[in-house]
Amino acid sequence: VIESGLPEHSAVTTCAYCGVGCTFKAEMRGEELVRMLPYKDGKANHGHSCVKGRFAWGYATHRDRILNPMIRASIDDPWREVSWEEAISHAASEFKRIQAQHGRRAIGGITSSRCTNEETYLVQKLIRGGFGNNNVDTCARVCHSPTGYGLNTAFGTSAGTQDFDSVEYTDVMLIIGANPTDAHPVFGSRMKKRLREGARLIVIDPRRIDLVRTPHVEADYHLALKPGSNVAVVTALAHVIVTEGLVNEAFVRERCDWSEFQDWAAFVSEARNSPEEVEKVSGVPAGLIRGAARLYATGGNASIFYGLGVTEHSQGSTTVLAIANLAMATGNLGREGVGVNPLRGQNNVQGACDMGSFPHEFAGYRHVSDNATRLVYESLWGVEIDHEPGLRIPNMLDAAVGGEFRGIYIQGEDILQSDPDTHHVAAGLKAMECVVVQDLFLNETANYAHVFLPGSTFLEKDGTFTNAERRIQRIRKVMSPKNGYGDWEITMLLSNAMGFEMNYAHPGEIMDEVARTTPSFAGVSFEKLDELGSIQWPCNEAAPEGTPVMHIGGFSRGKGKFVITEYIATDERTGPRFPLLLTTGRILSHYNVGAQTRRTENVAWHPEDLLEIHPHDAELRGINDGEWVKLHSRAGETTLRALITERVAPGVVYTTFHHPVTQANVVTTDFSDWATNCPEFKVTAVQVSRSNGP
Ligand code: SF4
Repeated sequence: VIESGLPEHSAVTTCAYCGVGCTFKAEMRGEELVRMLPYKDGKANHGHSCVKGRFAWGYATHRDRILNPMIRASIDDPWREVSWEEAISHAASEFKRIQAQHGRRAIGGITSSRCTNEETYLVQKLIRGGFGNNNVDTCARVCHSPTGYGLNTAFGTSAGTQDFDSVEYTDVMLIIGANPTDAHPVFGSRMKKRLREGARLIVIDPRRIDLVRTPHVEADYHLALKPGSNVAVVTALAHVIVTEGLVNEAFVRERCDWSEFQDWAAFVSEARNSPEEVEKVSGVPAGLIRGAARLYATGGNASIFYGLGVTEHSQGSTTVLAIANLAMATGNLGREGVGVNPLRGQNNVQGACDMGSFPHEFAGYRHVSDNATRLVYESLWGVEIDHEPGLRIPNMLDAAVGGEFRGIYIQGEDILQSDPDTHHVAAGLKAMECVVVQDLFLNETANYAHVFLPGSTFLEKDGTFTNAERRIQRIRKVMSPKNGYGDWEITMLLSNAMGFEMNYAHPGEIMDEVARTTPSFAGVSFEKLDELGSIQWPCNEAAPEGTPVMHIGGFSRGKGKFVITEYIATDERTGPRFPLLLTTGRILSHYNVGAQTRRTENVAWHPEDLLEIHPHDAELRGINDGEWVKLHSRAGETTLRALITERVAPGVVYTTFHHPVTQANVVTTDFSDWATNCPEFKVTAVQVSRSNGP
């Protein structure tokens, strides 16, 4: 509500919270943001919004924001405010000193999925060109890196296949390991609308998410599987489809590698992959698996939507491959209303991956060992680029503990809260000689930093975000950066101080460089974005206005690839000491580690993380609703209040991770996905007991 006067000016921009990417009109009075209005022409939201984008922007002017750079000699010293020149020059000289003493691969950096495409591109450019190595990674490591691996392997593109509008043509939704109502609210509402119109629904999730039963919507099948058994259940769906003759053979023969399909079909047909056998490991009745498989294969246009409940497992990449197999076998790809759609978490996690944040890939998912691609950047940047893939985040931390990795530049990421095994993260950071954190607030990671560079909000800079449907959208500067610089400018300052020159006058020039060097972005420019409103990549000569639906007529890699998906149980096992399985997720009013939403009025709606526990398990332990409980695992322990609910099955407990006081990640394990090191956040064997409080 505008209390006095009218807005004086406004700009169309994009929400900085989740991967839906809602468009808003930011209405300003002078330098003051007075309201965010959902924008009716927004292609991802069509005038809708959730409570985060609409109201939770007060963090931009919160008193906790750090506005001046700070340095300190050791993490035991107090911070000292310094000029930008001193902070940047100190960070650069420390990085150069470390490289001189320990080699060029002794430092690296982490890009942010909360920052813009242009900012991410610059950080990886600084590391590849200025640091001279590929030690760059991003928070997708801990969320959707298996999506990148799995979809790239199967289809040749590391991204969702459809646009959101495509859901209007969907007859059957298969939602696995995702809770759109809380985590992707605007798209979740759109799914609900389509379900109310008659689309059928299969939910595969250990928890009874809202969409399983909500007014006028009831899932046809809820496969409440035991956490960790995704691969077994999805492969059992394939078993039914193959053994009951429900394969779309014409599609497979034309679009996929037929001999790989035959090998896969023989594998899934084996008795050990039957619903009856899989019931024993997953707890899902065989009849439900059979029914769900038949509905998916024969119910018309079928779309799969999935989230971190698929990826954050030791077999995260295998589940993504199993999902891709299912879609190819039934011909549910390459037209509207079908497809495989990862619901990306953060506002720009898709973009961060697209922009070359991985240690083995340049922008556009091209491997660093590819000579032709390296040559493009070497000629443009005037440096030699390392052809060896660099270190992933967990490897950087391991190497730090081992003494080989000694300095890091972290832009907009709180790895102490967001990464698994908090004690190990802390040990890695503590072992480093120069930790540079660039963020809005003194986050938990900054406790181990030597240089703090204040970051800027999405309201204070120009740039682009890419949402879960590959849609590139503009953010527009509506106020001057309170810290003095946009994040892209800070990276430029650091790069120039390192001796690797960068001179961009505006983020639009950075996007022009991305377009010049990345085939899938060749047709993207700020001018075209202003004209069209948004563009879905690939955008190039073949698709000058972008590509809403991918893989029409053929896959990016040529023939679709079937991969055998053997179920291997996680090493994290329950037993007498830790008899329950913990899984985690989000709630509507908060976002991830809550750095932003906890600094808005949203905090009143969910002031603490709660532990959901089934009435049977609570009674066994003498726990009453709302009481303090201790949650402990082989890795650590934390204390929080119990919420007794039948949303979780007996044997399963669930919590969110929005509040640092809970530190849910102190209990999670260090098991991770075999292909990408994505941590297994969704399966931790725990015990719960009564407690007197923290
Ligand atoms: Fe839209 Fe997501 Fe922002 Fe909510 S948090 S307004 S759903 S982009």
